Amino acid sequence: MQPFYLKIAIDTPVNRLFDYLPIKQTERQSYAPGQRVIAVFGRTQKTGIIVDITNRTELSAKQLKPVKERLDNEPILSSDDIKLLTWAAHYYHQPIGEVFAQALPKKLRSGALPEESFEKLYSLSPAGKDVENSVIQRAPRQAALRQLMTTQTNPNNESLFTELEWDWKTPLKNMIEKGWVSITQSDAEQAADIIPPDFQPNKAQQTAIDAVLKNPKGFNAFLLDGVTGSGKTEVYLQLINHALSLGKQVMVLLPEINLTPQLAQRFRQRLATTMAIYHSSLSDTQRAQSWIKCRSGSAHILLGTRSSVFTPMKNLGLIILDEEHDTSFKQQEGFRYSARDVAVMRARNMDIPIVMGSATPSLESLYNVQQSRFHRLSLPERTGQAKAPTFRIIDCRNQTLNNQLSPALIKAIDVCIARDEQIILFVNRRGFAPVLMCHGCGWIAQCKRCDSKLVIHQKLRQLKCHHCGAEHQQPTHCPSCQQAELFPLGSGTQRIEDALRTMYPNVPISRIDRDSTRRKDAMQTVIDKVHEGGAQILVGTQMLAKGHHFPNVTLVGIVDMDAGLFSIDYRSSERMAQLLIQVAGRAGRENKAGKVLIQTYHPEHPLLQTLIQQDYATFAKDALDERQQAGLPPYHHQALLRVNAVDESAIMRFLNDVKSAHTHINNPRVSLLGPVPSPMLKRAGRLRYQVLFQTSERKSRHQYLQHLTHHIGSMKSARKVRWSIDVDPTDLY
Ligand code: ADP
Ligand code: ZN
Ligand code: ZN
Repeated sequence: MQPFYLKIAIDTPVNRLFDYLPIKQTERQSYAPGQRVIAVFGRTQKTGIIVDITNRTELSAKQLKPVKERLDNEPILSSDDIKLLTWAAHYYHQPIGEVFAQALPKKLRSGALPEESFEKLYSLSPAGKDVENSVIQRAPRQAALRQLMTTQTNPNNESLFTELEWDWKTPLKNMIEKGWVSITQSDAEQAADIIPPDFQPNKAQQTAIDAVLKNPKGFNAFLLDGVTGSGKTEVYLQLINHALSLGKQVMVLLPEINLTPQLAQRFRQRLATTMAIYHSSLSDTQRAQSWIKCRSGSAHILLGTRSSVFTPMKNLGLIILDEEHDTSFKQQEGFRYSARDVAVMRARNMDIPIVMGSATPSLESLYNVQQSRFHRLSLPERTGQAKAPTFRIIDCRNQTLNNQLSPALIKAIDVCIARDEQIILFVNRRGFAPVLMCHGCGWIAQCKRCDSKLVIHQKLRQLKCHHCGAEHQQPTHCPSCQQAELFPLGSGTQRIEDALRTMYPNVPISRIDRDSTRRKDAMQTVIDKVHEGGAQILVGTQMLAKGHHFPNVTLVGIVDMDAGLFSIDYRSSERMAQLLIQVAGRAGRENKAGKVLIQTYHPEHPLLQTLIQQDYATFAKDALDERQQAGLPPYHHQALLRVNAVDESAIMRFLNDVKSAHTHINNPRVSLLGPVPSPMLKRAGRLRYQVLFQTSERKSRHQYLQHLTHHIGSMKSARKVRWSIDVDPTDLY
């Protein structure tokens, strides 16, 4: 029998596969790529995934060890999954074992594949509703359960009962036996409760739908460029229904599910199918369940965030990616990848369509349209009676502001309140105020571990660092000159909220930012409140910009956004423009007209002028021209090498070695820019530097980085620092 070797991806920061022997006396047929195995690795045991089986190895017989155990009879990853993950490891220059490991939910990184389980949901049956009081009251606990369930409109899982302080299981069981309570499975196909739309797709929507459906080619990347409120979701829903009718699965990727619970709800109301959800706030068990249901095909739709782009799907027929410009599709730590770009590659590999939607497409995607790599579909107008909102700039120079609010903005708020309409106020920062300053000497509270100012959080009388999480009590005296005149400078969401409460004591006000939505379901609670009219003014950060549909919001006030106008990062103007248009897009989404007021000290700024006088498309065209002239992405390709350490000399040694490696590699098509300190030099006590590589050819970058990472892997100085490669970086931090 010819010997064979298993090439295994093991979760470790070394970028290669490891060769192992099969278990003694096992045959080649019992192994397949995609199976998990347990292997001795160094002094520990690790779970690995077989990526390939070969007849060759470069290791000697002495170096080779057999794997300890085979965890799966059937591969849990298909050859398509393996192809995608291998491509991603390669393209992003990330250790292949880490890439494979992060494609598995935690529960699957060891042990047997869990069984699919379906959560039970309980509801009162018609018989349970009709049973005579005199009958049920003979069993007081059953009566209490019935009382509890009559208050619920939807079926509930066990958590409805777990707060009860008595044994509810026995009476519930009795009620099920008597047919008073019925059980359904939460993941089961739901045929009932579907709410069909009360409209037909409009012409632009229909054209977009037809373009995707009538496309003869399998793979095609579509950019659904539709203004806010133009009904992109309706286009997705029709396309999804079509794919489902062909028996295909659909993957829907969203920036953040927690922030947009409405969308999941809209999907449930429209699609009679089984849906799996996948995002970071689920439990490990829930995530593992979603994963195995997608893989087995029992879930027909996957609704997930960035990391679900790698989920195995038995029969994938369509990928939808909403808000494609959103930066949360880019993973910024560990395995750095763009879920959008991976999704396009996945669609290409599978030969299926992908539809990416946005009201403010990224410059990369618009460039891809120019290059005919993406096909643009346009929804130029809002649906139904809704009109685009009107913009007005408020020049704040020489104005007396009341807690950052200009007289014009306050007046507009008053008018809205009088009409019983809702208002959104956008503030760039969370917390109370961004700076605590001494009136006597100008001292400013700074984080000791970062190059950043501490933000005042008034309720807890704390100063917090938003970069390293450090928390301090607010001092009562200036640490520098001992005077007691410390005052907050600037405004965050909390300060604006406080000011509004004083100005409008009878108006219900809610705040949305990372502090107010930390608790589970907090976001949903606020959103419900807004819909029910229980929040008339909504103050918040960019979380407000994410796809919400509040019909009664007619005024959007942008309290401050100037900081973004002068950032050193060349991408910040793109981000600013997107944020502004997205926040503005919350105004006037149904039959009431919307108005957007922008406060600024720079009313003539070209970015603001272009967006307001013209539109996002004009802005994007100008911005792309500038990028082309400056030789920046998407015209050129970048990679960023980041390094950090406590000790600056360790960084310098590393950077010197990197420069020598660059000289040694001697690739004239790749230029090295830097090294330079990161925009925030110190963070959490560590110093940070970076080197940028740039080239006009993707292929050169790839070859170059392969050499470079190889060099770094053998550099002694690399062991004293933390370093990472970021291919197609979206942030220069
Ligand atoms: P977008 O995602 O593009 O911002 P939505 O999909 O949220 O827009 O649609 C905005 C609103 O318009 C929703 O309430 C939706 O139900 C409604 N809508 C969508 N298509 C139509 C249509 N063809 N006619 C009337 N209303 C529509
Ligand atoms: Zn002082
Ligand atoms: Zn800090």
